[in-house]
Amino acid sequence: MKIKILQSFVSLLIILSYITFTTQNLSAQVKSQKYAIVIHGGAGNFPKDVPDSIKQKYINSLEEALNIGKDILKNGGSGLDAVEKVINYFENNILFNAGRGAVFTSEGRHELDASIMCGMDLTSGAIAGVTIIKHPISLARLVMEKTPHILFAGKGADDLGIQLGVEIVPNSYFHDSTNYQKWLRSNLKEQKGETVGCVVLDQSGNICAGTSTGGMQNKMPGRVGDSPLINAGTYADNNTCGVSATGHGELFIRNTVAFNVSALMEYKGYSLKQACEEMIYKRLPQGSGGLVAIDKNGNYELIFNTQCMFRGVANSEGVFETAIWK
Ligand code: ASP
Repeated sequence: MKIKILQSFVSLLIILSYITFTTQNLSAQVKSQKYAIVIHGGAGNFPKDVPDSIKQKYINSLEEALNIGKDILKNGGSGLDAVEKVINYFENNILFNAGRGAVFTSEGRHELDASIMCGMDLTSGAIAGVTIIKHPISLARLVMEKTPHILFAGKGADDLGIQLGVEIVPNSYFHDSTNYQKWLRSNLKEQKGETVGCVVLDQSGNICAGTSTGGMQNKMPGRVGDSPLINAGTYADNNTCGVSATGHGELFIRNTVAFNVSALMEYKGYSLKQACEEMIYKRLPQGSGGLVAIDKNGNYELIFNTQCMFRGVANSEGVFETAIWK
């Protein structure tokens, strides 16, 4: 009897140590997986001599956004969640030209654009010219996940948002008084805003990219830029890279910038750096904008041909950086 009890005790010990070993091994495997995130808050000509307090506000916002995405990725969350939540944060932040801080059309209203793409299967969703959607990137994601289509525009996109139950706001929600004063001072000249974007590589090796914007200040009503256009402002393919662009939308559409970065890698064997430099320094005119990108190995680029680009990067190797100017 005693021997039997001893035998069962020993086998129990063996089973327990096996379970502990396997679990430790599994978690070690998950932890050893790479992740990376890059973000931008627009490229343009932000004056270098702004007071430090204002600079700091932007840097703090970039850091908060990075932390949101980094935490999701670090805990093994999905790339799509990371992109959506980071961009939701920017869409709530008045400093950036997306969601709440969207710039003004020439008629003093707000028309917002966004797109999101999943590099695993090239699925994507986008909306253009919405006027009552609080979080355009979230509606773009629902277009991808809940409809057989990719791009909705104008009233149809607003109506889809109502139908799918996303948060609806009056157009005046985007009417911030500081931004309004800037708009009045801009004297109806075209100005670039601070579009936002995020690209991630999650622990499963999935690359996702998203971009959200109010477009160009003083754009003609109905004008759609590159941000909601898959291939121009946003692209993601797990075999190559993910890209989110910012800048003069018409030029990014004309040069199919986001897709071309991926295509140069796929068709020509370029590295991520070479592909980004080709598009931003050689194909686009100086002063037109920039992009953030990550490749399948976790290499990243934050590149621009303007005076500055609000930007940040973090990864599983301990990198955590934000910057505005070169
Ligand atoms: N690319 C955006 C657009 O043209 C603007 C920006 O990135 O600042 O709508």
